[in-house]
Amino acid sequence: MGRKIVILLGNPGAGKGTQARAIMRQLDIPQISTGDMLREAVARQTPLGLQAKQKLGAGELVSDDIVNGIVAERIVQEDCRNGFILDGYPRTVQQAETFSGTMMAEDQLFVIEIAVDSAYLADRLVGRLMCSRCGDIYNIYSRPPQRQGACDRCGGKLIHRSDDQEHLIRERFRTYRDETYPLVDYYQKLGVYRQVDGSRPIDDVTREILALVDHEEPVTPAPKGGKQKFA
Ligand code: AMP
Repeated sequence: MGRKIVILLGNPGAGKGTQARAIMRQLDIPQISTGDMLREAVARQTPLGLQAKQKLGAGELVSDDIVNGIVAERIVQEDCRNGFILDGYPRTVQQAETFSGTMMAEDQLFVIEIAVDSAYLADRLVGRLMCSRCGDIYNIYSRPPQRQGACDRCGGKLIHRSDDQEHLIRERFRTYRDETYPLVDYYQKLGVYRQVDGSRPIDDVTREILALVDHEEPVTPAPKGGKQKFA
């Protein structure tokens, strides 16, 4: 059987990370968050991190070549053999095309947009907290941790992401609209796009995503390196 590949699209703060973490436990496939990988590279001051730092700090996209490279390296690891959830990738049509070229004939692709209007998201982002150890996501308004400043799951320290500030949030919404939203059209044409209403409670959204991923007819992409044939 092919890999189950889930791509989550959605505005910053729509719940991609939260949902990716919820469904990975159910589907037993890993979450691949390019944002987490880039933040880690920045924190460790690796050559990649030094290249990416300024873009992350400005709420702009890191170059396609860099992210295509880190994803290509990650998805060939053993834990991805049955599939994976892409959270924050692809984010441009160029990235989507590159990723399509890595898919194999028997893979099943599910592209799900977690739709929430950006007008409702600024507060979510300003209140968002993230575990510095395991990446779990909290919100001081809607999902507070049981103990202030500590992750419920692993006890790690909760941090506020440096790009979750009002002026950068606006820039990130703009980047999403201009550079990432065209992917809706790209995946619609391929017949693999689905949308869920991300303004509902977290568990309801998770259930809907799982239903889509479990019950839909699998889509067969083109052979490795080839063009997708379901246009
Ligand atoms: P995220 O955690 O997904 O919100 O990503 C945080 C930041 O990492 C973004 O604002 C970008 O600067 C960078 N980033 C993450 N994923 C990508 C991607 N696929 N392409 C380009 N830049 C990315």
